[in-house]
Amino acid sequence: MKYCIVYNKAEKNKEIIEKLKSEITADYDEEKPNYVITLGGDGTIIRAFHEYPDAIIFAVHVGHLGFYTNYKAEDIDTVIDAINNHKYKVSALNLLNVAFNDGEKEVVMDALNEITIISLSKTLILDIFVDNNYLERFRGTGVCVCTPTGSTAYNKSLNGAVIDFNIDAIELTEIAGINSNSYRTLASPLVLSKDRVIRLVNVRNDEAHLTLDNMSFDLKNGEEVTVKMSQKILKMAFTNREPFVDRLNRAFLISKKKEA
Ligand code: NAP
Repeated sequence: MKYCIVYNKAEKNKEIIEKLKSEITADYDEEKPNYVITLGGDGTIIRAFHEYPDAIIFAVHVGHLGFYTNYKAEDIDTVIDAINNHKYKVSALNLLNVAFNDGEKEVVMDALNEITIISLSKTLILDIFVDNNYLERFRGTGVCVCTPTGSTAYNKSLNGAVIDFNIDAIELTEIAGINSNSYRTLASPLVLSKDRVIRLVNVRNDEAHLTLDNMSFDLKNGEEVTVKMSQKILKMAFTNREPFVDRLNRAFLISKKKEA
């Protein structure tokens, strides 16, 4: 088995990396690792996922928000033991499968958090289909389609619903939709079952962009983007899994437990 480390710039990481490299018995390999240890927050996990989509991720929380992370910096001995002695469990995180044309070729990619289609200077006009059934003509800044684990990222800033990790679903949320007597959209976040396919057609906008997690692509006039739940999953290692509600409390609420 092989492993590698993906980390952020936190000063503390130097010491942790040294310890990991001296105590993990598996070979260090940045080409084709079976395990990736991330030291950082969710941004570091997103980077690791896109570089090593097939690896098992051991996400260690160092600084930042770390909603996805299953280990703290103090748990580093547990991570070493888990890798050396194969003592870990794996949870499967849903991904989005996204197909689009980047202006030159057809591209198919998986996203961990979300995709957005967005236009800041000109009103975006998007025809939205679900399973090839016409839903609406959206006008506004953009739309966001996220996974359950991505629902606490950009989607949450858009007042989208937070989805329990255990629900297989995809969510479509508007970004500043125009609603008036001229234009009308559903105007509420739409949570769809895992088998739905969303098709977004850029009716008329030369300045639209498709973002996919931390990447961005131009989206030409008339181009369309298809989004569905991916057949693939992200494999996230854990030893003791933090309950979903505790995770929400730690990441988003002032952690004041109610007195009994
Ligand atoms: P980043 O600065 O690493 O991410 C922005 C913030 O979102 C960070 O605090 C990050 O947590 C947090 N985050 C990422 N995924 C999350 C998740 N699933 N649940 C809760 N929080 C999460 O930026 P980046 O590396 O370019 O990452 C791209 C992501 O930024 C996108 O996927 C998108 O979700 C997010 N984003 C958010 C907004 C917004 O909320 N208005 C706008 C653009 C992009 P850590 O501090 O732990 O890294």
